[in-house]
Amino acid sequence: MTNKCTINEVLVQGNSVTCNFTMEGQWKKFFVADSVKVEYSIDISGVPASVAVIPFLANILPIAWICDAEIHIKELDKSFYDSINDFKKGYIDMYPMLEFKGDVVVENVVENSAQGNGAIAFFSGGVDAFNTLVKHVQDKPTLLTLWGADVKLSDNEGWQKVENHIKDTAKEFGLDYVYVKTEFRTFLKEWPLSEAVKISGDGWWHGFQHGIGIICHAAPIAYAMGKSTIYFASSFTEKDKGKVTCASDPTIDNFVRFCGAKVVHDGYEFDRQAKIHNIVEYAKETNSKIALRVCWESQGGSNCCKCEKCWRTILGVYAEGENPQNYGFDYGSFSDLCRLIYSKRELLAWHRDSRYAPIQNRMREVYGVKNVESNLRWFYKMNLDKLQGRFDRKNFVKRVKNKIKRTLKLK
Ligand SMILES: [Zn+2]
Repeated sequence: MTNKCTINEVLVQGNSVTCNFTMEGQWKKFFVADSVKVEYSIDISGVPASVAVIPFLANILPIAWICDAEIHIKELDKSFYDSINDFKKGYIDMYPMLEFKGDVVVENVVENSAQGNGAIAFFSGGVDAFNTLVKHVQDKPTLLTLWGADVKLSDNEGWQKVENHIKDTAKEFGLDYVYVKTEFRTFLKEWPLSEAVKISGDGWWHGFQHGIGIICHAAPIAYAMGKSTIYFASSFTEKDKGKVTCASDPTIDNFVRFCGAKVVHDGYEFDRQAKIHNIVEYAKETNSKIALRVCWESQGGSNCCKCEKCWRTILGVYAEGENPQNYGFDYGSFSDLCRLIYSKRELLAWHRDSRYAPIQNRMREVYGVKNVESNLRWFYKMNLDKLQGRFDRKNFVKRVKNKIKRTLKLK
């Protein structure tokens, strides 16, 4: 049987939209539910089905492409419908080892247009999101965050922290915010999907879902609030072009359209250190209080100051000549923290070029060897390439030792 999805009903009620669907064919094995509910913190009751269906549709499209499935749908927004082949091309170019087939069959293509020229900025609270915020603050964007992406739907406490952070940031910048509670990660089986695209070298969420899958949740808001620009912060930069695969890429995101609104994959021209530079410059100029939230290791949503990502950001802020404690990092003594990082410095060897070399370069620009924190002089002077070599050698020795152990056991 050929793979087919029929979207039977798009139910818009007050703040929520529920899509009910029927799956046929082999690809049924990738789904756990036959409905997906998305709840907004604003009233969306005036949003037509042709727009309200977009968040769900965007999340089954990549599955339909790799499974050569047909999606049947009664009504769809014209600008989204017209953009499908344009952003599909981004996937085709990114993953030449896979075939992207499938089709969307629409009974009625409807023209909608967002009434207004406002902006929406996706906001997770990290460096990428804050860079987009400070760069486009003059557009007065509505901040938008999804519950159900990084924070699980069952994690009420974690979400509360995230929501408070958005609320505080919105207040500090004089903006409004919207959040969305969405089942977009729970209606499908992520692991079997990752297995199905294993040849790509990337997993389902990171490599295929989280770009358009997140972005398209903005469609009903764009319609309801009259927004015509949607900013989605980049996590990678131009230097990574061709070296990394990621579902959120300028060749995909920038081609998505809905109700006449355009999507901007934002900040791709800046590396992480340049983004931190933009953020601290803004904070200094405007006397704003910025609390970065970069950590996904800690329970409850604050920065743990013990993981690689926290350290990387702390060092990045320090490299700009700023006190990281003023940017949401509560670690007590900086000297003690630097000693701790030193004891685990092998963590720094990962991605030394893309992650730590820019921090080190900036630190050398801003500080002299004499006025840099004394417990950080090792980092300031260190040859990062040698650190990597040491790390590789250590791993090699470990691997050989394990092999010997296994061989001895066999005998
Ligand atoms: Zn952390």
